[in-house]
Amino acid sequence: ELILEAVDLEYSYPDGTNALRKVNLQVQQGEKLAILGSNGAGKSTLFMQFNGIFRPNSGSIKYQGQDISYKSKELIELRKKVGIVFQDPDSQLFSASVYQDISFGPLNLGLSEEKVAERVKRAMKDTETTDLEDKPTHLLSYGQKKRVSIAGVLAMGPEVIIFDEPTAGLDPRHAREFMQLLEKLSIEGKTIILSTHDVDLAYSWSDQMAIMYRGEIIAHGKPGELLMRS
Ligand code: ADP
Ligand code: ADP
Repeated sequence: ELILEAVDLEYSYPDGTNALRKVNLQVQQGEKLAILGSNGAGKSTLFMQFNGIFRPNSGSIKYQGQDISYKSKELIELRKKVGIVFQDPDSQLFSASVYQDISFGPLNLGLSEEKVAERVKRAMKDTETTDLEDKPTHLLSYGQKKRVSIAGVLAMGPEVIIFDEPTAGLDPRHAREFMQLLEKLSIEGKTIILSTHDVDLAYSWSDQMAIMYRGEIIAHGKPGELLMRS
């Protein structure tokens, strides 16, 4: 079943940089999609279209078959369902303590305090950050910050989680641990999209792979088929 779709998506930044050119991409519910592409290919820009942060110049994003309308109420709904974990955790953490940081999103959704506490607990458990709950975020290690930023996204209860270069800068052990966490989320039924430069990682982890080059998807398919063809 189709969950997210980009249809003839075009986007230029205000300075004229043409970042996406007629991008068509379909993401199925429960899929593990890896998007490969060098710096500047347009991966982050595409991600920000997927949860409505940017609005296309032409074409559209569909969530469960419906065009996003960009009305504020609907955007809030979309951002609950499609969460993005950015590459730099410092861009995502801004509260005094880990607990406060993770609860910020669900509190903003207007959930009851009880429900928020439940979500935060579960997110901390999944990301192994329970022991950190009272710590100020600025005192965390880089690896801990990454996990807390994921917990914050999980606590929103997303269906789709997008990771922008999740293993960039991590040593092999931390990268492996990170991929194990992603695997756990996938087993729970989440749809997961990530971007990476790492062909081996994309090949071994994903069940669909897309290659982006200068604002276009130039290949998309099962990893085995894709690497065979190129
Ligand atoms: P990737 O995530 O694959 O590295 P990006 O989506 O960040 O690629 O960038 C796609 C293109 O858009 C690049 O040419 C980049 O320089 C440009 N770009 C990204 N952000 C901005 C911005 N805020 N203003 C202008 N151009 C931008
Ligand atoms: P932890 O204490 O959670 O085990 P660390 O913060 O020591 O983790 O490091 C986790 C991983 O992140 C390591 O692979 C380290 O090389 C990497 N790392 C640490 N600081 C940065 C940074 N500022 N940018 C990118 N990677 C970093």
